[in-house]
Amino acid sequence: GMPAAPPPVLAPRRRSRKIQVGSVAVGGDAQVSVQSMTTTLTSDINATLQQIAQLTAAGCDIVRVACPSQDDADALPAIARKSQIPVIADIHFQPKYVFAAIDAGCAAVRVNPGNIRAFDDKVGEIARAASDAGVSLRIGVNAGSLDKRLLEKYGRATPEALVESALWEASLFEEHGFRDFKISVKHNDPVIMVRAYEQLAEQCDYPLHLGVTEAGPAFQGTIKSAVAFGSLLGKGIGDTIRVSLSAPPVEEVKVGLQILESLNLRQRRLEIVSCPSCGRAQVDVYTLAEKVTAGLEGVEVPLRVAVMGCVVNGPGEAREADLGVASGNGKGQIFVRGEVIKTVPESQIVETLIEEALRMAEEMQAA
Ligand code: SF4
Repeated sequence: GMPAAPPPVLAPRRRSRKIQVGSVAVGGDAQVSVQSMTTTLTSDINATLQQIAQLTAAGCDIVRVACPSQDDADALPAIARKSQIPVIADIHFQPKYVFAAIDAGCAAVRVNPGNIRAFDDKVGEIARAASDAGVSLRIGVNAGSLDKRLLEKYGRATPEALVESALWEASLFEEHGFRDFKISVKHNDPVIMVRAYEQLAEQCDYPLHLGVTEAGPAFQGTIKSAVAFGSLLGKGIGDTIRVSLSAPPVEEVKVGLQILESLNLRQRRLEIVSCPSCGRAQVDVYTLAEKVTAGLEGVEVPLRVAVMGCVVNGPGEAREADLGVASGNGKGQIFVRGEVIKTVPESQIVETLIEEALRMAEEMQAA
């Protein structure tokens, strides 16, 4: 038969150059990738590799590590060699670490034009070393470390100031014929951030790395990032994303993947369709949804599981999903692909759903 049509997206993708971050393509028609950053001391190779392994397992595509000291630079070769996903070294202030990261086999290096005045006379050398090693760069502008000259010109980190800083730095590399970079213009205010990326998207064809910087603790940061990334990705802008949370980095990856899945930019994996509950609910929907979610953690197949509190929308949603339950009268009707397969007492709803879901996931994985 005909292959299934891809799920709809909100807008066609902006046309951007494609670069490589190691084995992961960024820009062009490459899938929007998810990044995170380790919180360990980079010089602690084992701890860093362990966290990278956790991030990889969570679905992270690219990982960034800070490199503020010589000890960190010395750890880069082992980390770059043993990481399963491409490693980006994050460098501020010290051009010598850029060369160290390139020599270490890092897939890419992030540089910040705001605090690398010393880079200006080194741009040619960096461009040559990166180009020879097949290493790409990120020009990462941050509101908090905006170029002094631009801060004076604009008074504060406006979208125009962020974009001018990024494009000026880009032009320095362009003068040396180097174009293998992506750009970010991060701000902690989603409105300024969105405007900055919109302007940047119009003024260049470089791939864009989206980020709301210092987005805050998990709840606030998740919402700020979802709103900002959603409005940009919804217009086709953005090639790789990093959610910044004051929370363990695995959480950043989960949020990032969920944002992409919500926009159909990634194949949806497990999706729990649960109702908010209301005065009609005949079961404790929150507990039910929580237990089912916990029981299915790690399921990687695109399975929709509906957990509904009563018979108003319950059967309808449960029928639309791959698997579902509609509750009422102390019982749960279990639906599999639209058919009621059994009715179980309330106390067995969770275990039955999990059992069926795992069975279906296994079937789907085998297929
Ligand atoms: Fe309320 Fe039933 Fe809708 Fe849940 S499914 S929100 S319990 S009407």
